[in-house]
Amino acid sequence: MSRVYNFSAGPAALPEQVLRQAQEELLDWRGTGMSVMEMSHRGKHFTEIAHTAERDFRDLLAVADNYKVLFLQGGGMGEFALVPMNILRGKTQADYINTGYWSTRAIAEAKKYCAVNVAASSEDKNFTYIPPQSSWKLSRDAAYVHHCSNETIGGVEFGWIPETGAVPLVADASSHILSRTLDVSKFGLIYAGAQKNIGPSGLVIVIVREDLLGGAMSVTPSVFDYTQQAKAGWMLNTPSTFAVYLAGLTFKWLKSRGGVAAIEQVNAAKAKLLYDYIDASGFYSNPIAISDRSRMNVPFRLRNDALNGVFLKEAEARGLANLNGHRSVGGMRASIYNAMPVDGVQALVDFMQDFAKQQG
Ligand code: PMP
Repeated sequence: MSRVYNFSAGPAALPEQVLRQAQEELLDWRGTGMSVMEMSHRGKHFTEIAHTAERDFRDLLAVADNYKVLFLQGGGMGEFALVPMNILRGKTQADYINTGYWSTRAIAEAKKYCAVNVAASSEDKNFTYIPPQSSWKLSRDAAYVHHCSNETIGGVEFGWIPETGAVPLVADASSHILSRTLDVSKFGLIYAGAQKNIGPSGLVIVIVREDLLGGAMSVTPSVFDYTQQAKAGWMLNTPSTFAVYLAGLTFKWLKSRGGVAAIEQVNAAKAKLLYDYIDASGFYSNPIAISDRSRMNVPFRLRNDALNGVFLKEAEARGLANLNGHRSVGGMRASIYNAMPVDGVQALVDFMQDFAKQQG
C-alpha cells in the first residue's frame, strides 16, 4: 500500500525521509551490527546520538546556555503535574490561562499541588479565541504563569508571547513546537510531547531556565525531578532511546529544510490555503477568531453533520486519513504539522471542493 496523507493530531505523520532512514539503519546502525534499540544508553554510540539530538534541537530554537534541555518520559500530561512539582519552589499559587481542552486538563492536574488562579479564560465563547493580555488578572505572588500555546483540539494558537514580568512564563507547546520561530528567552519553561512535530510518542522535551531548578517538592520522583535529570544529562535512568534517535533524525531533516524560520513560511502558506478555502466555500466552517487560528490544527464542520460519515469514507478512499475531529467536539480536524507537505493540503482542499460540489 502506498502512503496516505495522514492528518492525525498525534501520534502524527513523520517525514518520509526520516522513516526511510530509520528503516535503512534499523538492523545495523552505521556499521555497529546492532539496532539503536539494542544499544546501551550509556555506550559511546547512543551517547553520540543523544548529544547530537540535543545540540540540533538547541540550534533549531537557538536555546541559550542558561537553559537546560531534557529529553524525558511521561508525555505532555505528565508535565501537567511535573511543572508544579518542580517549579513552585515553595510558593503555593500559580496562574493559568484557560484556552481549551488541554489548558483545562493542565489546570485540573495542577490543583493537586497548588492553588490555581485562572487569570483568563475563553470558556465564555466555547474556547474560540485567545483572551487578550489586557483582560488577564495575574496574581502578584504566582510561582509561574502557564498557558497552552497551541490548543490541539480547539485549534487556537498564540501568535504572540505573553508578558509576565518577573513571574516565569510556562508554555505547553506540544502541538506547535518547531513549527514557528520562538524567542525562548521570554520563557521560564517550555514543554512539548514529541508525537506531533518531533518524533514518536514516549518522549517529552522540557526546556527549563536554570534559575528555576533546585526547588522541586521533596516527594517528586527522582526521574521526574528536572534538577536531578539536568545533573545527570537526562540519563538518570534509561531514556526512551529509539524515540530520541528518531527525534534526532527529524531535527536533521528540519535543518536540511532550512530550519524553523523556513518551515514557518511553509506552515503559514499551508494554513492559509486551507482556511481561505473553508471561509470561501459556503459549505465548511471554522469557528475560531481569525487572528487566533492555529496553523497546525484546523478544525472544521460540514454544513450538515449527517454528512460526516460519508465525507470521512470518501476522504479515506482518496488517501486522506484521520480527518475526524476529537471525540469531545465532533466535526473534522486536519492537523498539518511540519511533516505535512503543501501537496497534502492541496489534495485535501481539492477533495473538499469536489465533495461540496457533489453535495450541491
Ligand atoms: N498538551 C497538548 C497541547 C496536547 O496536544 C497533548 C496530546 N495531544 C497533551 C498535552 C497530552 O500529551 P500526552 O498524550 O503525551 O500526555
